[in-house]
Amino acid sequence: MAESVLVAGAGGFIGGHLVEALLKDGHAVKAVDSKPGDEWFQVFEDAEDVELDLRDRDACFEAARGMSQVYNLAADMGGMGFIEANKAACMLSVLINTHLLEAAREAGVASYFYASSACVYPADRQRTPEVEPLKESDAYPGMPEDGYGWEKLFSERMCRHFTEDYGLPTRVARYHNVYGPEGSFEGGREKAPAAICRKVAEAELGGEHRIEVWGDGKQTRSFMYIDDCIHGTRAIMHSGLVEPINLGSSELVSIDELIDKVERIAGIEVERDYRLDAPQGVRGRNSDNTLIEAELGWEPQVSLEAGLETTYAWIRDRLAARLVR
Ligand code: NAD
Repeated sequence: MAESVLVAGAGGFIGGHLVEALLKDGHAVKAVDSKPGDEWFQVFEDAEDVELDLRDRDACFEAARGMSQVYNLAADMGGMGFIEANKAACMLSVLINTHLLEAAREAGVASYFYASSACVYPADRQRTPEVEPLKESDAYPGMPEDGYGWEKLFSERMCRHFTEDYGLPTRVARYHNVYGPEGSFEGGREKAPAAICRKVAEAELGGEHRIEVWGDGKQTRSFMYIDDCIHGTRAIMHSGLVEPINLGSSELVSIDELIDKVERIAGIEVERDYRLDAPQGVRGRNSDNTLIEAELGWEPQVSLEAGLETTYAWIRDRLAARLVR
């Protein structure tokens, strides 16, 4: 059945892909973001595009009016470089979720989705590259990533209490590193896969086969391709899951291994200047997918190689187009 769906943060990376998927399935989509329209990663003719700052309570009520589903993907966020330097700004995203929850309750929406993050997990469980995958219960006792992670953990909690106290059905996914085309790849908010694709593409196009790497390259992560993220997000929205659940890949790779893969795609080898003073985040992080496999039968379908190939091509095309201008 076609629904009226609000996507908050629709001008961003995940929000843009979600709008596309919802429109394809025939839903009526209200796409909201605070960025000026010409800065949205993707714009779709069939969506109703609205520029609103959702930290503002009235803006949230305007956005949620008449909606039957709300996806909250709006947040002031970026990769490690951004979140380590902008803790207060990250925490102010609490206003978005707070006011959107109130507005969704008032509008009587049937389901509300909140995009949380693996940054809710305590640092002391992520101190080695050979880290144990993080399971949902590891989030407590709470000691999340300073700033950004605390906001996510608090907002998760608020969703839970809106469900318990007011009967608003809420769903929470803890995203682990999402990557793909149509997202940030420069300017300071980009995350590791996009940053590495950009640096290698610059090396390929410019001829100087040397890149800067943040950290010693041995820190580990898992990376989920955007199509898997959208599929999982929608499955979680339509599930009966009240508790937060991991949504990520469980294929652990080091940053050096990630660069090896991008080198193979680009067909070049690069010298690596390791910057040990740069922001690096936790030493190792992986997703335990036992719960989501059991509850939803979800597992990633896109290999890291295939996803990086698409992402690299998209970023390289953008850089190459600038050279011919
Ligand atoms: P993004 O930065 O590309 O998109 C977020 C969007 O929110 C941006 O377009 C931004 O302009 C918008 N926004 C910020 N403040 C706003 C406001 N006050 N009012 C309206 N819109 C506002 O980020 P993304 O990668 O698409 O992430 C989407 C969500 O998923 C975020 O909540 C993020 O914290 C979460 N998340 C993402 C990842 C990842 O790897 N990308 C990992 C964990 C969690």
